[in-house]
Amino acid sequence: MNYSIIANAYEKIEATSKRLEMIDLLVDLLKNTPKQIIEKVIYLTQGKICPDFIGLEVGIAEKLAIKALSRASGQNQKQIENNLQKSGDIGETTYKFISEKIQSTFFQRTLSVEQVHDTFTKMAKTNGAGAIGIKMSLLAGLLSDASPKEAKYLIRTITRNLRLGIADMTVLDALAISYGGGKENRPIIERAYNISSDLGKVAKIVVEKGIEGVKQIQVEVFEPIRPMLAERLSSSEEILDKLNGICAAEYKYDGERIQAHKKGNQIALFSRRLEKISNQYPDVINFIKTKINAKDAILEGEVVAIDNQTGELLPFQELMHRRRKYGVHHFMEQYPVSLFLFEALYVDGEDLTTEKYPIRRKTLENIIIKNDRVKPTKKLVTKNAKELELFFEEAIANGSEGLICKAVGKESIYQAGARGWLWIKYKRDYQSEMIDTTDLVIIGAFYGRGKRVGAYGTLLLATYNKDTDTFESVTKCGTGFTDDDLKKIPKILKKHLIQKKHSRVSSTINADIWFEPQVVLEIIGAEITLSPIHTCGLNSIRQNRGLAIRFPRFTGKYRTEKNAEDATTSKEIIKMYQSQLKQISVDQSTNKAKI
Ligand code: ATP
Repeated sequence: MNYSIIANAYEKIEATSKRLEMIDLLVDLLKNTPKQIIEKVIYLTQGKICPDFIGLEVGIAEKLAIKALSRASGQNQKQIENNLQKSGDIGETTYKFISEKIQSTFFQRTLSVEQVHDTFTKMAKTNGAGAIGIKMSLLAGLLSDASPKEAKYLIRTITRNLRLGIADMTVLDALAISYGGGKENRPIIERAYNISSDLGKVAKIVVEKGIEGVKQIQVEVFEPIRPMLAERLSSSEEILDKLNGICAAEYKYDGERIQAHKKGNQIALFSRRLEKISNQYPDVINFIKTKINAKDAILEGEVVAIDNQTGELLPFQELMHRRRKYGVHHFMEQYPVSLFLFEALYVDGEDLTTEKYPIRRKTLENIIIKNDRVKPTKKLVTKNAKELELFFEEAIANGSEGLICKAVGKESIYQAGARGWLWIKYKRDYQSEMIDTTDLVIIGAFYGRGKRVGAYGTLLLATYNKDTDTFESVTKCGTGFTDDDLKKIPKILKKHLIQKKHSRVSSTINADIWFEPQVVLEIIGAEITLSPIHTCGLNSIRQNRGLAIRFPRFTGKYRTEKNAEDATTSKEIIKMYQSQLKQISVDQSTNKAKI
């Protein structure tokens, strides 16, 4: 397949901001793709060469890309750099220099998708001494065979600047329409994706075997399952009500979620974002190897930092010491961890994701050889709100964040990839006004004044609206940033800069600078108010009004383990607003009673 077909499709996709149009264009592209390379087209369209959990990443520094462009176009690097300064877009600069070269040579070969994918894979696998030179030559080779338009997208992909705005969910829609027998089969395709986390694999099976083939996709060790997430409520009564009068309440430990995969003595650990993090936790690998009485298993748990001396639980931040490539063994002793397991998703040939909670939990408890450092999460099954409240207070007193209350009835399957009402989190801070933190996505910024000239003065932040798959503005935040943050944030955001508002962003406010929604920060505010300008929860409480977070402040926590889609949702903000209203009316009535 000619890479030009992909480049033409990208050009059209980039020009639209309408999701439906984007799906149609993607459907066209998939239909024009030979079946045997559908995976490669899917990965490339997402700016990847394989699913994230493989850990083989596309990407080189801009400097190296410039060198390759210089070699392919015959122009000197300085000239390219000057042009890039002006254009601000390595894709456009590449287009210009490759056009000029072609005009002067009249020579060009055709470039195939296979060739692009193979070369990117070779580049990703090249390490060690001499790697930089090899990568540069490989890229220069591709650019020499490319048309200006192809070169533009090649270079954007390899420098991680593709940004077509195609979300996983958009690809699933396109697959259902193009090969899956129509949109009504989308849930089947989505389930396959949720248990395999591999869009390429799902696409290949839809194309080759149709929807019946997709139904056969099974849970497999070393293919991470997309995590189940919790809704939130703010009282024991509400929680029991929602869970049909009975729940299994578990401590909500404040650590890092891991999904452990075991096949014999081979172990892999995946993060909440399903990236491989085995290297960070050699001790956890050892726990799984020695304390799990099953040959094969997929388990989930929370890794929590503990005090070296006392064994007490420590807050999440302490785990940051483990986020390193080298010297983990040293830090392992200095910053030990415990593992609290809460899910058994697969054990010795049996897929447990469709079993109900009590069965999964029993299986889990049966295979753990407990000790000080490896245990199942602490739990209480109860029908009684008072008892639940006491357990909640005990959980807080013992250093956890609160509870995750889980359904126990026949509906209580593991809902991979979904935030639903089968799990409900209960944290102390929901009980009063907005003491709870939110995780918001940076979508834009405004230039700073005074002390902040040259830096960003305020950031425009958004919640995620799951129904429309968009990011809705909810606040402008300029407080809580240290001098270090002010230096660091523009660096983090640089690679997400875009020329205009992102197609998945909904905002009536005009930011000075726009970003693709990627970076998530933890923000706390004083309260949630109705807003005539923000689009979060627009019309949900009152016509033409959205919701805004008042007096927002950055807590200092960069939520690097979260994707933009994992940010606080607009629905959660609506709920927080409603519970705040309830709280105010309770306060008013008790005040009146006092008077
Ligand atoms: P938060 O920011 O509150 O941690 P989140 O968006 O990361 O939320 P939630 O769905 O709100 O995820 O809460 C579930 C998270 O709580 C899980 O991802 C897991 O990391 C953590 N957790 C701690 N203890 C448990 C438990 N017993 N059962 C399930 N999840 C638990």
